[in-house]
Amino acid sequence: MSESPKSLNFIEHIIEEDLANGFPPNALRFRFPPEPNGYLHIGHASSICLNFGLGLRYNAPVNLRFDDTNPIKEEQEFVDAIKRDVEWLGYEWDTECYASDYFQTLYDWAVELIKQGKAYVDSQSSEEMAIQKGTPTEPGVNGPYRNRSVEENLELFKGMKEGLFDEGTHVLRAKIDMSSSNMLMRDPIMYRILKRAHHRTNTDWCIYPMYDWTHGESDYIEQITHSLCTLEFAPHRELYDWFLDNIIDPDKVRPKQREFARRNLSHTVVSKRKLLQLVEKGLVNGWDDPRMPTISGLRRRGYTPESIRSFADTIGIAKRENVVDVSLLEFHIREHLNKIAPRVMGVLNPLKLVITNYPEEQEEWLRSENNPEDASAGFRDIPFSRELYIEKEDFREEANRKFFRLKLGGEVRLKNGYIIKAESCTKDTEGNIIEVQCTYDPKSKSGSGSEESLRKVKGTLHWVSIKHALPVEVRLYDRLFTDETPDGHKDKDFLEFVNPDSLTVITGYVEPSLKNAKINDRFQFQRMGYFNVDQDSTPEKMIFNRTVTLRDTWAKLQKKN
Ligand code: ATP
Ligand code: MG
Repeated sequence: MSESPKSLNFIEHIIEEDLANGFPPNALRFRFPPEPNGYLHIGHASSICLNFGLGLRYNAPVNLRFDDTNPIKEEQEFVDAIKRDVEWLGYEWDTECYASDYFQTLYDWAVELIKQGKAYVDSQSSEEMAIQKGTPTEPGVNGPYRNRSVEENLELFKGMKEGLFDEGTHVLRAKIDMSSSNMLMRDPIMYRILKRAHHRTNTDWCIYPMYDWTHGESDYIEQITHSLCTLEFAPHRELYDWFLDNIIDPDKVRPKQREFARRNLSHTVVSKRKLLQLVEKGLVNGWDDPRMPTISGLRRRGYTPESIRSFADTIGIAKRENVVDVSLLEFHIREHLNKIAPRVMGVLNPLKLVITNYPEEQEEWLRSENNPEDASAGFRDIPFSRELYIEKEDFREEANRKFFRLKLGGEVRLKNGYIIKAESCTKDTEGNIIEVQCTYDPKSKSGSGSEESLRKVKGTLHWVSIKHALPVEVRLYDRLFTDETPDGHKDKDFLEFVNPDSLTVITGYVEPSLKNAKINDRFQFQRMGYFNVDQDSTPEKMIFNRTVTLRDTWAKLQKKN
């Protein structure tokens, strides 16, 4: 059945076992069920890749189901963003479904449960109900409304639906067992009154079903075979099954809930609720801020869908929760961009370099390979002239032999150009180096085939011709949180760990071939990292995001400190 030679994960083992026991392969059906109360994040990517991956492996349909039962938090904006993100990741859902489309069916089933004496209207305050619920070690006690007659319950539930009562006055509860060892089985709430307009059903309803009552029944309506959710729902499975037992038609498929571990990423938070706080408090510039671990933030930052999928694939799924280091995600984007990103030159921290023996009015165009990893990427020409910018860090007056860059009296090659020798430098009144004067060897031009062109020097620097360079805004990003697990502290709020230096905006100088770059085009700025064109960029004012550095400098810095 499986098309990939990779070993099976434990969910696939469950499915294989079901198939071995005679379950028809063409009945398999999966779903990805986000609540539209925020944007999808990298944790969701694991769930998306798992469910849609199963769809591909078993050639089975996968529904995109919006779990939209809480009108207080849900919005159309989030529905749209979720669809965009799943599509962008490269997946196609079979049917777009909404739990809200099942409100009438769920209501009718609830009425059936009341008729069977398995649900009742409770008219106590939530505080009273909480007291009766007991604790994990003490059983709960039955409330005074538990034995209402079927007629009274039907009447009250109808009244709830018709809007006769205020919020908080009545709830519908399943009548299960107030002394169950599973707290979730102690007469869980199925419906509450909420006089709120819903983004799809508007004011049709003023009672809304709870998650547990909705989720399994939605799976059943859609005939989902394997309903995969994260571990915190493991104790809900008993209730999931109890609800199904009470509505199921034995001729139909019975969905099965199975749990896998939530994925956490280091130096960030993956919870829509917490991400919403960052947005609302203005700590980031919206859900798609390139520092956000949201799919839309990663997309804006220059991540590719392939890199996110290969990341999710590598970490796989697990039975226990753990924290995945963000450097692994960065490894995957680096690896992909190395294959696809054209190489260009851009100087981020400029130092002027004057080639004193290069004629003032002269300029020439140097042929450069666009991507050594991809022969089909072709060539471009970059202008060279007497005055260039190099990176400040690439020059020192004096340095030891391990400094393979430019120092006074030393030689380096200018990438795709000539060998130069630093002769002298100029400083400002504070002693900062503001200009380097050098000479070049006219016979050493890269690719000219001359003996001098083949001469080896330690160190090759990137550069731009000052007269031709484009000044651009460059946004450099660092970790959004200084702590590895910002939400893992009992005594401290995660917001205390927000990194105040997570964004640095500078002016960089890039070669003129970038003039025609379009929004989201991705490049390697040689020796500096991978960058993409931000969506705010205009032809007059280009803006680049640093997607990721070329190497993992963060880990090294941490070790030093
Ligand atoms: P959040 O706390 O961020 O809102 P959630 O679980 O409430 O997460 P849902 O919209 O309900 O978000 O999630 C849709 C699906 O994605 C669920 O099946 C959920 O279990 C799964 N999921 C959510 N977060 C993660 C995560 N960090 N790792 C793996 N799966 C996740
Ligand atoms: Mg949720």
